[in-house]
Amino acid sequence: MEKTIFEKIIDRELPSKIIFEDDRCIVIEDIAPKAPIHLLIIPKKMICKLSEAQTYDKDLLGHLLLVAAEVAKKMNTQEAFNIVINNGEGAGQTVFHLHIHLLAGRNFSDFLPG
Ligand code: 5GP
Repeated sequence: MEKTIFEKIIDRELPSKIIFEDDRCIVIEDIAPKAPIHLLIIPKKMICKLSEAQTYDKDLLGHLLLVAAEVAKKMNTQEAFNIVINNGEGAGQTVFHLHIHLLAGRNFSDFLPG
């Protein structure tokens, strides 16, 4: 099967600005940022989208969120950031390799609930 863009980035076949990496995930800058800070937290395991994650992915999913919070701290977001996961084409997902958007430095209150 053809590698996803994110698998190619993980395998260093495509360039990206890497902010953090461990054995389970990589954090990169989004190529088309929608906020002053726009990072993508990407699992190394290929999961197409959140709705295809399984119970046995529970630990990995938790890890991704904890990494997001840790990276947000390092980026001096003052604990003001948004987390977004687009699931499926109808919700705007364009890369079918699960990823979490971490956005900071912009107010999204007109778009997001709350
Ligand atoms: P989605 O729309 O699937 O939730 O988000 C995919 C994100 O990946 C978009 O924000 C898009 O800008 C970003 N993206 C797409 N291709 C690349 C790439 O080659 N490098 C990086 N760093 N980001 C990418």
